[in-house]
Amino acid sequence: MTSLRTRERLIQRLMDQGVSDYKVLDVIRSTPRHLFLDEALSHRAYEDSSLPIGYGQTLSQPYVVARMTEVLLAAAGGKLSRVLEVGTGSGYQTAVLAQLVDQVFSVERIKPLQDKARQRLRELGLRNVQLTHADGGFGWPSMGPFDGILSAAAPQFVPDELKQQLAPGGVLVIPVGGQQQYLHLVIRDGDSDRFITQELEPVKFVPLLSGTTR
Ligand code: SAH
Repeated sequence: MTSLRTRERLIQRLMDQGVSDYKVLDVIRSTPRHLFLDEALSHRAYEDSSLPIGYGQTLSQPYVVARMTEVLLAAAGGKLSRVLEVGTGSGYQTAVLAQLVDQVFSVERIKPLQDKARQRLRELGLRNVQLTHADGGFGWPSMGPFDGILSAAAPQFVPDELKQQLAPGGVLVIPVGGQQQYLHLVIRDGDSDRFITQELEPVKFVPLLSGTTR
């Protein structure tokens, strides 16, 4: 179930859907997604689907993880130093990012999910990650600015706090909407207070909720 062949099939599927950044594909190939799921579900880890991780939340679909990561890297010109992730969840997207950028700062509002993610990231030896338990709709002001921000939860509108934490030329990839959601790419225009927004493709994410739970 976690064999090379199964993983290779997933990579082929991602390529068929248009993911073309080899760095991203290589990282997805080598990241053990089954470790981010409860054992009862781990046999489905290399399917291209989102899967439950408890607390009403889901592990993002591999295609979506690949696509968002690829968009983030491309829009930033290939090199990212400090990246903020909103919605750590299982920590899978965090692990993928950590292998492609210098430092990842990830915010999760549900404490038990954060605890599990921390343990998994430690087991994988990914040391360039910092996690915090907070409402990520406000970003992580003390760690900013960031040259990339990626949100795994969908607000109705792009939070101003996230835009303000973008470094000059920084890029934000975020699903936006309710029943109908679109992936948005927001780029800070130089060091100005202007932002260029592009709507990319329809997506389906859990909502960005406010506050935290223990
Ligand atoms: N990339 C994660 C996705 C998890 S689902 C994975 O693949 O596992 C989205 C996550 O965003 C959930 O864990 C949810 O609790 C979290 N979330 C929702 N609103 C949030 C907020 N305001 N701040 C921080 N995390 C939030």
